[in-house]
Formats: sequence, structure tokens, C-alpha cells
Amino acid sequence: MVSVELSGVSKTWGGTAAVDDVSFSVGGGKLVALLGPSGCGKSTTLRLVAGLEEASAGSIVIGGRDVTTAPPSKRGIAMVFQNYALFPHLSVGENILFGLQVRKVSRAEQDERLKKAADILGLDGLLERKPSQLSGGQQQRVALGRAIVARAPVCLMDEPLSNLDAQLRVEMRREIRELQQRLGMTMVYVTHDQVEAMTMADQVVLMRNGRIEQDAPPDELYENPASIFVARFVGTPPMNVVPLQALTAAGGAIVAPPGLDPAGLSVGIRPEVSELGESGIAAEVVAVEYLGADTLVEARIGGHPFIVRRPGKVRAAAGDRIYIRLSQSLLHWFDQSTERRVVPG
Ligand code: ADP
Repeated sequence: MVSVELSGVSKTWGGTAAVDDVSFSVGGGKLVALLGPSGCGKSTTLRLVAGLEEASAGSIVIGGRDVTTAPPSKRGIAMVFQNYALFPHLSVGENILFGLQVRKVSRAEQDERLKKAADILGLDGLLERKPSQLSGGQQQRVALGRAIVARAPVCLMDEPLSNLDAQLRVEMRREIRELQQRLGMTMVYVTHDQVEAMTMADQVVLMRNGRIEQDAPPDELYENPASIFVARFVGTPPMNVVPLQALTAAGGAIVAPPGLDPAGLSVGIRPEVSELGESGIAAEVVAVEYLGADTLVEARIGGHPFIVRRPGKVRAAAGDRIYIRLSQSLLHWFDQSTERRVVPG
């Protein structure tokens, strides 16, 4: 299985860095998600790996070979785009085989690969249709089919599910993950959807303003976010992050880690481990959202928003005074000025 490695890769346009000194590696047969808000440089990073953009600095190694200046066709990659890039006048079968025809693969070999891919993707009865006669999910499978018949060891995907409705997205992300593991593909998967990244990836590279904010497995990202940005990007609803002083002023018996200036610290805690009690940190309820399995109580602590998520139904209404209880061992600590995690010494 083939690995992908980026070292110090940058891409600048007119003096502005879209990708700024990015280094990460994707182990053979692993799925790495590039996650982050719109404009943070995910697609540009993927296009650099594909060879569709030329790096301004740094190196890209695929399968042990430096491909930094190699054309896309010499990199051993297949790419699936957001808009599927299907040809409307070609049939499903022709669309899947398009790349192989260009590369002059023999007819017999094409037939065999098409049959296998159609089988894997459940497209058997649809090969004669035109893309316009398919549902969104089926069109997505055709785009995947192309990547499969290419037998490229590395597959690059740019927001492949964003045109599908919510339920189909859930199905397709399972399908893609299952396929990627079954075929032993190395995959780089771009998404702005943290749920997609968390559920599919072995490793998540979370980007912000062209730089890597954190590169970690999903559980590590959730449990040990490296910054306030990561803490709030991963998990729904996002982690509460409030200045320590606002919590103590509202009656919280929270102790700052030894050796740190309490005035410069913010406290992070997930809504799902925040509790309600008869006493504790005084807060005012702003809104209550009952979701069936649980309830989100949106509150304010001295002007700072704070969400408590409790199982079942919580009897509270806007304007109520409530008391929030936080367990010291579940707190995350951040430096207010750098916004980075501080590890209690
Ligand atoms: P993302 O995929 O995370 O939404 P992109 O990689 O598409 O972000 O874009 C990162 C930044 O680079 C953005 O500010 C975008 O405007 C800029 N950018 C992307 N492509 C070009 C280009 N061809 N020319 C100039 N700037 C670009």
C-alpha cells in the first residue's frame, strides 16, 4: 500500500499564502480527512497532491517517490470531484471507462474492470443509461467507479458528498469508507463537515488560514483539542469556552491549575458533560431545545453563552435561573491570548 507525504508545502497566489508550510503524512491504506472552514486551503492542498497546482515550496512524496514536479498522470492517483465531472452525452459505462480509453487499456481489460466496478457499486443494470437518468447517489457511484477502474493506489476526494441529501450522505460515507478499506486504497478526503471527518477518517488534519491547526485521530481531536478553534470546530453543539473569571464570579468552585495565572485562562467543557444542580454556577436560560433523546439548554453565564446537553427532557424555560455544575477533571484549559491548550503541570 502506498503512502503520501507532504513536507513544508506552500502555495502562494500574488503574495498571499493559500497553503502555508503544511506537512502531514497518510499511511498506506489509511483515510486522512482534510477538515476546516471554507477558504482554509483544503482543496488547494488536495490539488497540490494531485498535481493540478504547482507547489511554491516544499515536497510531495507518493509511494516513496518525489512527485513534487510530476504531472498528474505520473502520480498514481485518482480524483473524485464535488460535481462528479460526468460527461452528459456518454453512458454510465463510457463515463466509468473514460480514463482507461484515454490511457489505451485493452478492450478486454476494460470490460473486466468495468464489470468488477459495477458489481462493487451496484451499478449493474444502469451501465447503458446517461448520467441525467440517474439519482444523485448513483451519479456519485459512477464518479467512484472511475476511481476504482483506474486501480490507482491513491484516491483523492474533494467534498464528494456535498450535493447529496442528508440521508444519502450517511449511506455514501459508509460505502466510501467500506470500499476504501476493502480495496486498501490510500485516501485523502476533503470536507468542511466535521461529522464526515470524524466518522470516516483514521486521521484528521484540521486546517485554518492555510495552516494545520491539529493533525490527530478523531478521538484525540475530541478529547485533547490543541486550541480553542479545534475545541469548537469538533463536536455538536460545540465545546463551551468561557473565561475562568466569569465562572468563578458566577459561583463556580473551579481551581486554576497550579502555576498558571487564573486571569489569563479560559475553561472549556463539552455540553454533554455539563450538569445541572441545585447550586453551582448561576446562569440564565436563553432557550430550551428538546430533541427527543436529549435536551439542549442554552444559557448565559455573566453574558457568556453556555450550552448544557442532558439526556431526556429538561424542565426549564427561557428566563429561568439555573445552576450549572462542572466536574474539575473534565475541564480543558486554554490560554486566552494564544488560544492554545495549556497542559496543567
Ligand atoms: P477550501 O478548499 O478550504 O475552501 P481553497 O483551497 O479552495 O479553500 O482556497 C484557499 C484560499 O486560496 C482561498 O482564500 C481562495 O480564495 C484562494 N484560492 C484558491 N484558488 C485560487 C486561485 N486559483 N487563485 C487565487 N487564489 C486562490
